[in-house]
Amino acid sequence: MPVLAPLKEVADIIKEAGGEELKLCYQCGLCTGVCPWNTVRSFLVRRIMHQAQLGLVDFEDEDMWLCVTCRACVERCPRSVGIIDIMKALRRGITELGIAKVPDSLRITIKNISGTGNPLGEPPEN
Ligand code: SF4
Ligand code: SF4
Repeated sequence: MPVLAPLKEVADIIKEAGGEELKLCYQCGLCTGVCPWNTVRSFLVRRIMHQAQLGLVDFEDEDMWLCVTCRACVERCPRSVGIIDIMKALRRGITELGIAKVPDSLRITIKNISGTGNPLGEPPEN
């Protein structure tokens, strides 16, 4: 069961990141249709935008961390919703407020980059 919780702090962060444009989202789903993730697995960008509109965030949903900011959805959105800005704001809200933890896979990648400069943790070639 997903944990959905309206938090004023998260709502404020979303508003600051592009809340006005987000209000214009009419759930057409074109963003989900062009997101390259959907060629390999289901990734419902539209649903995340809907949750953000409502000020509800599924803090345990790892999908929040999948977006690679390729901009395909932003260029397709008929309402010019700042999808990437919203996604980044949600991540920032989660980490800054300590609401949920960063997925293990991402933490390992960050640790590898800080340790070896390589996301896979492989030492640099000489
Ligand atoms: S493409 Fe834009 S308007 Fe359509 S669902 Fe996605 S964010 Fe909303
Ligand atoms: S910017 Fe993120 S959500 Fe949008 S299409 Fe690219 S990976 Fe998908």
